[in-house]
Amino acid sequence: MAIEKPDVLFKNISHRPPQGDWMDVQSKIKPGRYCYAGDPEALEYVGLPNPRKWNPLDDDWKLPENWQEIVIGGLKERLDRFRSFKIFMDVCVRCGACADKCHFFIGSGDPKNMPVLRAELLRSIYRGEITKAGKILGRFAGGRKLTEEVLKEIWYYYYQCTECRRCSVFCPYGIDQAEITIIGRELLNLIGLNIDWIAKPVANCYRTGNHLGIQPHAFKDMIDFFCDDIEEVCGIRPEPTFNKVGADILFVTPSGDVFADPGTYTCMGYLMLFHYLKEEYGLDVTWSTYASEGGNFGFFTSHEMMKRLNAKMYMEAKRLGVKWILGGECGHMWRVIHQYMDTMNGPADFLETPVSPITGTKFQSAASTKMVHIVEFTADLIKNGKLNLDKSRNANIKATFHDSCNTSRGMGFFEEPRYIIKNVLDNFYEMPEGTTKEQTFCCGGGSGLNAGENEEIRMMGGLPRANAVKFVHDRHDVNMLSCICAIDRATLTQSVNYWVPGVEVCGLHELVGNALVLPGESERETDLRAEPLPGKEEE
Ligand code: SF4
Ligand code: SF4
Repeated sequence: MAIEKPDVLFKNISHRPPQGDWMDVQSKIKPGRYCYAGDPEALEYVGLPNPRKWNPLDDDWKLPENWQEIVIGGLKERLDRFRSFKIFMDVCVRCGACADKCHFFIGSGDPKNMPVLRAELLRSIYRGEITKAGKILGRFAGGRKLTEEVLKEIWYYYYQCTECRRCSVFCPYGIDQAEITIIGRELLNLIGLNIDWIAKPVANCYRTGNHLGIQPHAFKDMIDFFCDDIEEVCGIRPEPTFNKVGADILFVTPSGDVFADPGTYTCMGYLMLFHYLKEEYGLDVTWSTYASEGGNFGFFTSHEMMKRLNAKMYMEAKRLGVKWILGGECGHMWRVIHQYMDTMNGPADFLETPVSPITGTKFQSAASTKMVHIVEFTADLIKNGKLNLDKSRNANIKATFHDSCNTSRGMGFFEEPRYIIKNVLDNFYEMPEGTTKEQTFCCGGGSGLNAGENEEIRMMGGLPRANAVKFVHDRHDVNMLSCICAIDRATLTQSVNYWVPGVEVCGLHELVGNALVLPGESERETDLRAEPLPGKEEE
């Protein structure tokens, strides 16, 4: 479906609510705002329930006969299992503080994209089907019955929430719609209501280790291509190792860095950094063709699937006998690692609390997970004067920084990326307050929603972020939006190009790779994108 031009889409956003009670407003599934149904083969591969072909636009969603029983039973089970979820179902006072904080509400004007109302879609079922007051008083107590129409509405709006948690920052009770959406999607999965952009990557990841289903030899080939490209840029060819038993450190990154621009340039940056550290300090880091995916779309399916897909990181670390794990630039990968991995698949007692073999820094923040974010690792190297950096090679770049929802709100990871940027280039400009750090706006495509068919809602959801980018673009000529998340790199490239043409997107280690002076390198003419370096344009 072709999307409207930005000015037309913008003009049509209306925040005027429809007349009447929200329960009376029937939701209509609109092309451009929903994702295709999960492919039955993918569901079958990982044993997800009710694999079949179905179309969200059809009346018949081919649900199991006892679907209501399954969903309500699943809801009861989760109310018992997750205390936070139970509290979130009970305590909202409808103050409205979260209402205008969701990028999808800001960009679409659809009231059911207000976090308070998104939660109410499920909360009303909890009341109407489970609580005594709701069962007796029904609508007067905010309850409703779980009908097919209601189920379809929940499916539609729970796949229009990127689980970004921005709303939770503003809620006086800390109600986290992301957690409600996670549970809502689990319930939908119990009766086979998935989307293909999540189901296929889950199956691929389980089959070959990464979202695209790329096999080990092809994964290695891609890295080899990057090494060829690096040699062309600077005359030095990194020689990474794969699946090396007895290496010091295992490196795991999202496969988006290996297979999709502009993440590929970030990947080249990692390779250059590891080569530099090997030459200068003897760093022994290895890549895995088995744990070839840091991202975890199981997180967008169920807690069980998240655990299953995450398990390979520790398993591979154990198999190779490394000391600890280093992880690449990603968002939700880090939320899973930081908040769940050690209790879900650990404790990883066979690993050591990570210590940088170069600076001696002990990463206490990773004492439990045994896994360090590469941004923390690199910031520490810079702080200790271990990298030879030439900022002038990034002089054509005027950069701003997008805080990924997961690394910022999920990890409190604010200063390290900014510290790196300021050490690899001179022209850095912050986006306006209220749109950065813990209040950052989502890219609009997180939590498995970066599909093609839902482009309209993604562009709507991407508007608040793009608007802040436009501010620094207009005021300071910013031409690069840097970030530390693979989904951001993919999603923002499209939404920024749509709303603010002239701004590109990059990962932080692309900028590091440009600035890093490798021992023995030849004079560079271009950056990692094969664009002329500053001062080399005319030659
Ligand atoms: S801010 Fe919190 S309490 Fe207020 S309406 Fe939103 S979810 Fe409910
Ligand atoms: S978690 Fe993010 S996408 Fe979901 S309702 Fe809250 S602000 Fe909107």
